[in-house]
Amino acid sequence: EGSLQNTHERVRLYQGSTARYERYQYIKQSLLRSVENKELFIVLQPQYGDAGNIIGAEALLRWQHPQLGLISPGEFIPIAEESDIIVEIGQWVMNETCKLLCDCQEVGIQTRLAINVSAKHIARADFSESLLSIVDRWKVPPGSITLELTEGTLIHSFGLVRKRIRELALKGFVFSIDDFGRGNSNLSYLKELPIKELKVDRHFIDEVNLDGSKSLLINSICDMAKIFDLRAVAEGIENTHQLRYAKDCGCTGFQGYFLDKPMRVHVWREKLLSEKAHTGDTASAESPH
Ligand code: C2E
Ligand code: MG
Ligand code: MG
Ligand code: MG
Repeated sequence: EGSLQNTHERVRLYQGSTARYERYQYIKQSLLRSVENKELFIVLQPQYGDAGNIIGAEALLRWQHPQLGLISPGEFIPIAEESDIIVEIGQWVMNETCKLLCDCQEVGIQTRLAINVSAKHIARADFSESLLSIVDRWKVPPGSITLELTEGTLIHSFGLVRKRIRELALKGFVFSIDDFGRGNSNLSYLKELPIKELKVDRHFIDEVNLDGSKSLLINSICDMAKIFDLRAVAEGIENTHQLRYAKDCGCTGFQGYFLDKPMRVHVWREKLLSEKAHTGDTASAESPH
């Protein structure tokens, strides 16, 4: 089983030093109580459309550990994925995100949020049922939720997961492929599954030089997006050259530190409220799909 091998790899990675291995063990232990101790929180990174309007945001998890301080998801998500704790965390993220959308609807803001979903979570037999009960609880339209899956999740997904993706897409949930292009993958899932969006991996955006050379890869990824009728979102935009280049290539969504860093929920809410006050309506009401 893949996860066992990952566990071994991770252990090996941390065995470089005793201190690192102890940190790994400690994180693994304290993850078990992170949800009930309310140590997790969500930050939001806005996504912009062609016209500079906010089209939504990605929910990114943060963990304020009582002893270790703020820990990045890049460190703790892979550890959480080694056990069922990722399911509890994933459920928490889905619920918080829908609660947020519900809060926003109450003050007249219609927007959309993207959630990162782990392979192990979506593979659970009760995934659809629990997602549906959460959107129902908060009266959130499924179309305002984008589920980001990595290529790995899609390639290794079995019949049941694929069936689940089709069913959820029919209900209106939007599926997006995160970090697209990172794996050298068999892309047949692109025509087999109801995917609407792909997020061009940050490393390709990084390759955009000031003169625009060496960025053929984004170009071909965007061409592929067109062929499969997908929306291309550029992530990790750090400067104006990258933004312009991604636009020229045909990306229609943009996310990155140059536009906005991930922000606390109340800051994001204020931002949407002030945008609404300026335009008379949320720009995000204009559907990018
Ligand atoms: P991701 O989904 O690809 O998220 C994008 C990451 O790039 C985020 O890191 C974000 O803060 C960072 N980023 C955004 N703009 C820029 C930029 O301009 N430059 C650079 N260098 N980085 C930028 P973060 O928040 O540390 O998240 C890392 C990864 O952890 C995420 O990658 C995602 O795979 C995972 N993750 C985060 N939250 C969750 C969650 O709730 N559930 C699951 N399963 N995974 C999560
Ligand atoms: Mg993501
Ligand atoms: Mg990504
Ligand atoms: Mg990533």
